[in-house]
Amino acid sequence: MELTVLGCSGSYGAPAGGACSGYLLRTSGAALWLDCGNGTLANLQRHITLGGSRRDDQGDTPCPPGVDDLTALVITHWHPDHCADVYGLQVLFNYGLGRTGFPVYAPEGTEARLATLVDGDWGGAFAWAAVGDGDAVTVGDCALRFSRTAHPPPTMAVEVSADGKRLVYTADTGPDWSAEAFGPGADLVLSEATFQRDNESSGIHLSARQAGAAARAAGARRLMLTHLWPGLDPTASVVEGSEAFGREVLLAAPHQRTRI
Ligand SMILES: [Zn+2]
Repeated sequence: MELTVLGCSGSYGAPAGGACSGYLLRTSGAALWLDCGNGTLANLQRHITLGGSRRDDQGDTPCPPGVDDLTALVITHWHPDHCADVYGLQVLFNYGLGRTGFPVYAPEGTEARLATLVDGDWGGAFAWAAVGDGDAVTVGDCALRFSRTAHPPPTMAVEVSADGKRLVYTADTGPDWSAEAFGPGADLVLSEATFQRDNESSGIHLSARQAGAAARAAGARRLMLTHLWPGLDPTASVVEGSEAFGREVLLAAPHQRTRI
């Protein structure tokens, strides 16, 4: 597996092109886009071709998906910093590529919530599938499992297993949920770490300390911190997170690629 960070700014865009949450996960047989926060569609196009199922010149024969093409999108919840670029993707598919039925997995109610901005009509671009706590789906060679986190709108953390490896993406969560919900020993936990230890009262987000402690308790092999609040000193988050995790943590950065 290879994880590419498309954006990692917590809650709103950071200066100098700091897109919000989005990740590209490539395996031997799939390319998954995990969250499409604002700014991530632009960054995604530096890493992948989006031409699969495009129509030929006559407009009616689907071309086979390219080897470098996107397989599916997972939206963890409907906060805009995790889903705003679904609108740009819809425009690209409907008016640029003629691509239809692209699989989108999202919590129950997400499609209806987001559809208000397109007057309830996605133009056929997407095949929406609702996912709930404990659900499991297979996408290409990836086995996905979902777990409801401690975050106000229905929010699904996702575990992706493929190529003998296991990634857990926490999405947004407070301390009342942890990656342990998927069982111990993930190869990489990609954890939100919005705040630092001096601001742990929100209940709907984690500090770097809490992210480190939770990943340690879950027996994570590696931990990557993401979704840091813009303006916080990332070095302090890494120090705090590493101390709690017991080993050096990774820090997400736009366009960074990590082998899992
Ligand atoms: Zn959120």
